[in-house]
Amino acid sequence: MLHDDSLSSPACGGGVEQASPSWGEARRDGGGATSAIQSPSTPEQGFVTLAGAGPGDADLLTLGTLKALQSAQALLYDALVSEDILALAPQRCIKICVGKRGDRLSVPQEKTNALMVRLARRGLHVVRLKGGDPSVFGRVEEERDHLDRHGIAHKTLAGVTAASAAAAQFSFPLTHRGEARSVTFLTGRTKDGSIDLRDASVADPEMSLVFYMSSHNAQHIQARLLGAGRSPATPVVLIENAGRAHARARKLTLRDLPATVVAEAWDGPVLMGIGDAFAYARMADTMLAARTA
Ligand code: SAH
Repeated sequence: MLHDDSLSSPACGGGVEQASPSWGEARRDGGGATSAIQSPSTPEQGFVTLAGAGPGDADLLTLGTLKALQSAQALLYDALVSEDILALAPQRCIKICVGKRGDRLSVPQEKTNALMVRLARRGLHVVRLKGGDPSVFGRVEEERDHLDRHGIAHKTLAGVTAASAAAAQFSFPLTHRGEARSVTFLTGRTKDGSIDLRDASVADPEMSLVFYMSSHNAQHIQARLLGAGRSPATPVVLIENAGRAHARARKLTLRDLPATVVAEAWDGPVLMGIGDAFAYARMADTMLAARTA
C-alpha cells in the first residue's frame, strides 16, 4: 500500500525541524555510526535514520525510534510495521510502504534505496523504519552501503527483534544454564530459495535455534535436523505475530512440525523455535492466544 508515492506532498510542517542541530550532533558523535561520520551530508541533503520498529505493538518501540519518528519528514516503512506505530509520525510526513511479506514483493530493494537518497536530497529527515531490529535479517547493510555511496549521512537505531519479543511474551528463555548454552538466529530461506543449513548450526543439542522466514520450509528443516541427530522429541514453538495482542503460539515437538504448520494456517509472520529451552514456554500444547494482561 502506497500512502503517498507522488513525493510531491509537502514535508512535515509546523513543529518539525529540518536537519536540526541535534541531527548535526548525531552525525558528529554518531553513537558508533562511523560510516555516517565518513560521509556527512550537508543539512540541505537531509539525513536518514535506519530505525528498528520492534515486532509490532508500539509498546516495544525504543525511545530512540519514537523520537526519530516524531521528527520524521519522510517515512519509508516495512509491511510488518503496525498502524499504531505509523500514527506516531507527524500527520503531514510523507509515508511510503516499501515492505514485503515473504514472497509477496511490493517494492524492490533498489527502489527503496533510490527513494531514501531522493528524499534525503530534498533536505528531509528520512526515517527508514524496519520491523524488529534492523540488524537481524533486515538488509540494513545494503541500505547503509547505498547511502554511503551517495554521500548521505545516516545512523542506525536498534529495535527489539521478534525472537526477544516472543520469548518475553510466552515466558521462555532463549538460553538456559546447562541446557541451552547458545542461541542462533537463522533462516531456512536463501536468495535462490534453496535450503542451506550447516551441520554446526543444527546438530548441537545445547543450541537453541530460532528460525526466521522459514515456516514454508518446515519439512526440509525437520528432515535436516533429524538427519543431523536431533531427537524427534526436541521441543518446538511456533509463534505468529509475536509481541502483538493477537499473537498466537503453539508448543509441539520436532516430530510434528511440518504437519502442524500445514494443518494450521500460519500465514502471519512466524518464528520457529527449536531446542530444549523452548520446553519452558508457558503456553498450552494446543493453539493459544497471547496473554495480554
Ligand atoms: N528484522 C526483523 C526480522 C525481519 S525478517 C526482526 O528483527 O524481527 C522477517 C521475518 O521475521 C518474518 O518472516 C518472521 O519469521 C519474523 N518476524 C517478524 N516479525 C514477527 C512477529 N511479530 N512475530 C513472529 N515472527 C516475526
